[in-house]
Amino acid sequence: MYEQQQEWHQRRGRRRLVLFPCPLQGHINPMLQLATLLHSHYQRILSITIVHIHFNSPNSSKYPDFTFLPISDGLSPSQSTKDVIALLSLLNHNCANPFRECLINEILSQQNEPPVACIISDAIMHFTQSVADSLQLPRIVLRTSSPTNFVIFAAFPLLRQRGYLPIKESELEAPVPELPPLKVKDIPMIKTGNLEGLFTLISEMVNQTKASAGLIWNSFESLEQTSLESLRHEFPAPNFAIGPFHKFAPAISSSLLTQDRSCLSWLNTQAPSSVIYISFGSIAAIDEAQLVEMALGIAHSGQPFLWVIRPGLVVDHDKSGQEINKDVDLTKFLPQKVKEMMKLHSGRGCIVKWAPQLEVLAHPAVGGFWTHSGWNSTLESICEGVPMLCWACFGDQMVSARYVSEVWRVGFQLENGLQHGEIETYIKRLMVQENNREREEMIERVKDLQERAELCIKKGGSSFKSLENLTDYIFSLKIRKARLA
Ligand code: UDP
Repeated sequence: MYEQQQEWHQRRGRRRLVLFPCPLQGHINPMLQLATLLHSHYQRILSITIVHIHFNSPNSSKYPDFTFLPISDGLSPSQSTKDVIALLSLLNHNCANPFRECLINEILSQQNEPPVACIISDAIMHFTQSVADSLQLPRIVLRTSSPTNFVIFAAFPLLRQRGYLPIKESELEAPVPELPPLKVKDIPMIKTGNLEGLFTLISEMVNQTKASAGLIWNSFESLEQTSLESLRHEFPAPNFAIGPFHKFAPAISSSLLTQDRSCLSWLNTQAPSSVIYISFGSIAAIDEAQLVEMALGIAHSGQPFLWVIRPGLVVDHDKSGQEINKDVDLTKFLPQKVKEMMKLHSGRGCIVKWAPQLEVLAHPAVGGFWTHSGWNSTLESICEGVPMLCWACFGDQMVSARYVSEVWRVGFQLENGLQHGEIETYIKRLMVQENNREREEMIERVKDLQERAELCIKKGGSSFKSLENLTDYIFSLKIRKARLA
């Protein structure tokens, strides 16, 4: 089927895809993985162009087969990821004209390139729908987080109507019977100075996804079947679950920070499944007191650890309430006693600013992952059969943590903040190998999911079939006749 498919489409002529990522690490990775995945399977028939903004721009030298076109983002140097909602709202406003002009002047006017079949844009960059409409181009949406999380975003109007939103402190532990097994505190919210701005962003994302020509998910059928079915019902455009992307595509790192590979040599010196890997992704932040609680919990657990303390992870506030980014050199501000307890000097632990996470999770010495439950990290852990300890910080992380602990039952969740006693207990429950039936059962379940993930990307598997369907769909889209001058 796959080889025949390539020949059929080749006779009809190559098509060009225009991809537009959202400039955050957890969004850039899956978009570039999708591009690599499409290229590796269909390079004879698809050509790939990535339009991106200057802020957090991807490293084009790693992708010689793609065309990269930068556009202006209109951001001032001080506008960064501190308030993600403000940043995303601004980008949706600022990028519409530059994106449209880039399409007209640098893409649609080119006579020697294949015709553009469609735009594939991150769901959160919702402005791309009106640009696509204005140029009569179909737009397919990539949602980089889980389908389950999108079901909840789509239910926001109902959740507001029934009084769950805005979330009230007194109701945090109450169940949401409309979305089992979620509690009110799991509804994906993001800390922002502008709550209405957040609601508008989410509703625009959902509405413009409804208006799109199709949806791509970085997930697979047997992991999130119920949510995918519900989305097919609610979003009539074709849905394609073709994840896990990073396993399906050849590995090329799209990391924005430099990965410290020395931790891989350190892992080589550790016993099988003994190390807990700790990372809270690219945006989540903690304060100094939480960092000390983490360090104490890790120290008391007695487990070897690999800990990512990235620049910006530790943030405190000055007297006027302004954020101050703490020095990332842990040794400078952890109490001496805690450092001694952690036995850093004897090699019990390794601390890096940024790790090659995929390789770390695949390393035989890693036996558990203490994660913030970002969707990429969650999928990456499942794909390596690594059980998790979840400490969700905001947004979709809350939903993933609940699913990891209560639906897939491949991890525990820290629900009471960061307290060293609880951290110690959970690290031991997750990591201690002797007489730990709970861990054994968890590992059986996560290995089962890992196996399903491996099967779905093989020929005949659900994600492989979805990829073929997506390609057929791309070739079925009507090509706009006029080239723009
Ligand atoms: N990551 C990495 N090195 C690290 C920590 C994270 O390469 O030290 C990668 C990780 O593999 C994942 C991404 O950064 O692909 C983080 O995405 P996720 O959705 O988990 O979280 P976010 O950063 O969006 O909160």
